[in-house]
Amino acid sequence: MGLELKNISRSFGKNRFALSGINFSMQKGEILALLGESGSGKSTLLRIIAGFELPDKGSINLSGKTICDEKISLHPEKRNIGLVFQDYALFPHLNIEKNIAFGQKKNPSRTTNEWLALVGLPGMGKRYPHELSGGQQQRVAIARSLAAEPELLLLDEPFSNLDDSIRSSVRGEIRDIIRSTNTTAVFVTHDTRDCMAVADKVIVLSNGKLLQEGDPKQLYIQPCNSYVARIFGEVNIVEGEIARQLSGLKKFGIRPQHIIPGNDFSCTVLSCRFDGDHYDLELDLNGSKLHFHSDQPYTKDEVIRISFPKDKIIDLSHES
Ligand code: ADP
Ligand code: MG
Repeated sequence: MGLELKNISRSFGKNRFALSGINFSMQKGEILALLGESGSGKSTLLRIIAGFELPDKGSINLSGKTICDEKISLHPEKRNIGLVFQDYALFPHLNIEKNIAFGQKKNPSRTTNEWLALVGLPGMGKRYPHELSGGQQQRVAIARSLAAEPELLLLDEPFSNLDDSIRSSVRGEIRDIIRSTNTTAVFVTHDTRDCMAVADKVIVLSNGKLLQEGDPKQLYIQPCNSYVARIFGEVNIVEGEIARQLSGLKKFGIRPQHIIPGNDFSCTVLSCRFDGDHYDLELDLNGSKLHFHSDQPYTKDEVIRISFPKDKIIDLSHES
């Protein structure tokens, strides 16, 4: 077992539950994303795992060892957990080599040069942090944490300071670096694209509660409620009589890109807007507004026929 959290709760003040009864477990070497909006409890959970914050209730087990429960709480430095902060927090007065060597064990499994090669910065050991780009500094921060050979790596919003243009390549690089060391890792994000690109498993937090846990594809295809469905991208939510007519369900969701031209339902085009990858159409279906992504343009007031592929319908009937 890599990491296991049981019933972790934490409140600040009387009725302000930052976290309520969080349970999850991960295998060694798995990468988990904590996904949620600002204030959902992600950083508090990360700080509790790291040992900077105590839970009111619950226990944490890391690699078969209890690091925190009602009776004991290991000090952060005794937990063998590596941390990577959003701002990288490299030592500015130490060169890259010395930054990486900072936490290394006596008989390290990799030399500093091997770490530099692993993070794609061979021969750059003598440079100083300010001489590197943001993406490079981040890889050094990760190498520094991993060089201490932690049981668990925690990363708080590791991708949020990066420009969009490099963000997607950095995601892949960081995933590959963590994978190649078989380190169990938990990272925090509010961006589902980070989850899709990096995580084996995602945990969705809202108001301190765990809403759903699963691999990114599962959460995208089978979100447990409208909130999770919306986090993972645009979705039409249909309820009431019209929902029943369309799907047999009291309430359901369908993503705009999953609606297809077909013979099932007639709609009127309310608007059509070019969106780069597709045309974004707003349709009126018996008084219900639907968004539909189409390869071709349509004109306002045109009548078109569409279908909903059965396997793309998100069942939300329990919410109605
Ligand atoms: P996130 O990282 O998802 O944005 P946080 O874990 O930082 O969320 O915060 C979760 C909730 O707990 C928020 O409502 C926040 O205001 C509250 N909170 C976090 N830390 C403290 C603290 N030290 N004192 C009081 N309230 C806190
Ligand atoms: Mg936070």
